[in-house]
Amino acid sequence: MNIAFIAHDKKKDEMVRLTTAYQEIIKEHQIFATGTTGQRIIDATGLNVHRFKSGPLGGDQQIGAYVSDNKIDLVIFLRDPLTPQPHEPDISALLRLCDVYEIPLATNLGTSEVLLRGLGSGFIEWRKTQRDSQLKELEAFE
Ligand code: PGA
Repeated sequence: MNIAFIAHDKKKDEMVRLTTAYQEIIKEHQIFATGTTGQRIIDATGLNVHRFKSGPLGGDQQIGAYVSDNKIDLVIFLRDPLTPQPHEPDISALLRLCDVYEIPLATNLGTSEVLLRGLGSGFIEWRKTQRDSQLKELEAFE
């Protein structure tokens, strides 16, 4: 599975704790992240992370493009709901695309834990079937 991690500045320590705690599950998958979040995960866990640009510089949009290309199976987005973000439109767009493509999305620590435990228990395997059938649909268009 391809998993995207994003954490706003005040949530980055939480993200480090989360990815460290669930490292055994996460390491079986491909990890994507916005720039600074990705670096923090690398520094804390040593895992291999594909880093996009920083969120305010377009990283959320890059992840959104991957979502719309069916390349992301799960999004863990630790948002800070108490601090205005300069790239709020990009954040909304990413959340919207997750809903458009029915990608499991967590926006807080509680849901993140449920999703990562679900991932470890194979509850997100249905994404593989969905991904394959969507790819076939796309091929039929070409
Ligand atoms: P960052 O981007 O991981 O590069 O900080 C996330 C964000 O703040 O939107």
